[in-house]
Amino acid sequence: MSACDDGDSWNQFLGFIQDKCSKGEFLNWIAPIKLLRSSIEEITVEVPNIFVREYLMENYSKVLRSFVPLRTSGDLAINFIISEEKKEEPKSLPIEKKVVDITFNTNYTFENFIEGPSNQFVKSAAVGVAMRPGKTFNPLFIHGGVGLGKTHLLHGIGHCIKNNQSKINVQCITSETFVNELVSNLRNKSLDKMKNFYRNMVDVLLIDDIQFLQNKPNFEEELCNTIECLINQNKQIVITSDKPPPQLQLSERMIARMEWGLVASIGVPELETRVAIVQHKAEQKRLKLPQKVAFFIAERVYQNVRQLEGAVNRLSAYARLLHKEISEEIAETTLKELIEFTPQKKVTVESILKSVSAVFEVKFQDLKGESRLKNIALARQVAMYLAKELLKGESLTKIASSFNGKTHSTLLHSWKKISEELSKNDVLNRQVQMVKRNLS
Ligand code: ADP
Ligand code: MG
Repeated sequence: MSACDDGDSWNQFLGFIQDKCSKGEFLNWIAPIKLLRSSIEEITVEVPNIFVREYLMENYSKVLRSFVPLRTSGDLAINFIISEEKKEEPKSLPIEKKVVDITFNTNYTFENFIEGPSNQFVKSAAVGVAMRPGKTFNPLFIHGGVGLGKTHLLHGIGHCIKNNQSKINVQCITSETFVNELVSNLRNKSLDKMKNFYRNMVDVLLIDDIQFLQNKPNFEEELCNTIECLINQNKQIVITSDKPPPQLQLSERMIARMEWGLVASIGVPELETRVAIVQHKAEQKRLKLPQKVAFFIAERVYQNVRQLEGAVNRLSAYARLLHKEISEEIAETTLKELIEFTPQKKVTVESILKSVSAVFEVKFQDLKGESRLKNIALARQVAMYLAKELLKGESLTKIASSFNGKTHSTLLHSWKKISEELSKNDVLNRQVQMVKRNLS
C-alpha cells in the first residue's frame, strides 16, 4: 500500500455505504471485497468472483467517484483482481435442500383465479402446462403489468402439479432469489452443488419476475444455462415478466430461449371480470357485499387486481370493526383515497382525445374529423374504446355523439375491435396504458 493513502478512501466508502444498504446486502456483496493496494492514483481490490465486481460497479460506480481516484479519462481508477476459485473436488455432491425455497401461496390456486377475456388464454396455457409438464409449451412465458395475476398463475401451476403428481420436484424462484442464492453459493464455494441441484434434481422450474435479471449479464448467463439444460431434458420451465421478451434487456440468446415455447400476455381485466374478482375476494373474506358495491369498486379501480383486493380488504376490516353492512356510501367514504387515485372523475371525451393525440402523434382535429388514414382511424378507435371504458356514468349514445356525431353502434364496433386487438398487440397495449396514465 502506498504511503499516500492507507486505504482510507476505501474505508470511507465502506462507512458511507454501510448505512445505505441492508445488512444482508452488505454481507453478501461488499464485505467479501478485499482491498489489496491503495494509492492516490489508483486502488486495487480483490473480489471473490465477477458477480461481485458487477454488483459493485452497477450499484455504486457513482458513489465510488467521490472516494476512489479517477483516471485522466474520467474512469474510476479501480483495478479488480478475481480471486481464484479453489476448485473443490466435486466427487460426491451431497444434495442439500435449497437455501431459498418459496412455498406456494395457498390462495394462488387455479380455482381462485377468476377468468375473463383478458386472461382466459394465458390461464388455459397455464393449466395445459400443469397437466402435462414438459410436454406442451416449453417454456411458457407469461407477461403483463403489475398486479394482474402473474405470480398467482405461476403458483397455480405449482399447486396443480403437486396435487396431481406429488413426486415431481417443483421449484419456484424469483430471479432475485436465484441471484442471491448464486452469490451465497459462490461465496461458500458451493456453486457446483447449486448447479447440480437445479440441473439434475428439479423437474419443473417456475421463475417469477425475470425482469430483475436485466443488466446482470453474468447472472443471466447462469440462469440461461440452467434453463437450457432443463429444457433439453424436457423439464418444464415457466417464466413471468413485466414485459414481453423482446422488450427485456437480456441477451439475444436468452430472449430466443424465452420465445421458443409459448409467449402469452395477461391483460387488464374487463369490468365484468373485475366485478367477479371483487365478489370472489369478498366471499373469501366472508364479507357481505351488495352487487351494487362490487360494481362501484370495479368501475373505479381498474388497473390492477391487487388494488381491487386492497379495496375489499379495507371494506372487510371496516365491516368487522364496526359491525356494519357495507353500503355504497360507506364504500365511497372508506375507499376515498384509493378511488381518488383513479382518473374517473376528471376524464372527459376532450381529455381522452388530447391524451390519445399526444401518445399516437396525430392531430387533435384529425381525431375529431373523418379521415380514414390508418394511423388516424386507429387512434380514433382507441379514443372511443377508452371513452367507453372510462366514462362509466355516461350513456353510450351521448359519448358517441361527442365524436363528431358518431352513432352508438360505431362506438361499440370500435370498442370491440380495440378490445380484441389489445389482447394480442403489446405495442397497442402499452400505448393505451400510456394514455390512461396521462389522464391520471
Ligand atoms: P403480479 O404477479 O402480476 O404482479 P399477482 O399474481 O401478485 O400479480 O396478483 C396480485 C393479486 O391479485 C393477488 O392477490 C392475486 O390473487 C390477485 N389476482 C390477480 N388476478 C386475479 C384473478 N384473475 N382472479 C383472482 N385474483 C387475482
Ligand atoms: Mg408477481
